[in-house]
Amino acid sequence: MTTEEKKRLKTKIEDEIIHLKKQITELEAKTQPITPDCSLGRLTRLEAMGEQHVNNKILDEAKLRLTRLQNALQHIEHPMFGICIECEEPIGIARMEIRPESMRCVKCASEC
Ligand SMILES: [Zn+2]
Repeated sequence: MTTEEKKRLKTKIEDEIIHLKKQITELEAKTQPITPDCSLGRLTRLEAMGEQHVNNKILDEAKLRLTRLQNALQHIEHPMFGICIECEEPIGIARMEIRPESMRCVKCASEC
């Protein structure tokens, strides 16, 4: 990976982190416990709970991705950054640009 590519990737990760943090804040507001409210019909309440369940799942995934991206950002200057942890081959800039938090190359990732 060239210095230029690394710089571009770093900006990308930083942007993504800002975006994810915003998304997490919004999701956290949406996943507040539903207060028992008699004015809500049973169906509406079930719908709200279903939606909350979905939002919780998205929230978990967003948090996980945020951790991975922050991790990637911390290690971006490390010589092993962008190197597959399985086969130690370069992961490839195309993949890194889509998922900068990748730790495995396409080949190794598809094998597990
Ligand atoms: Zn690999």
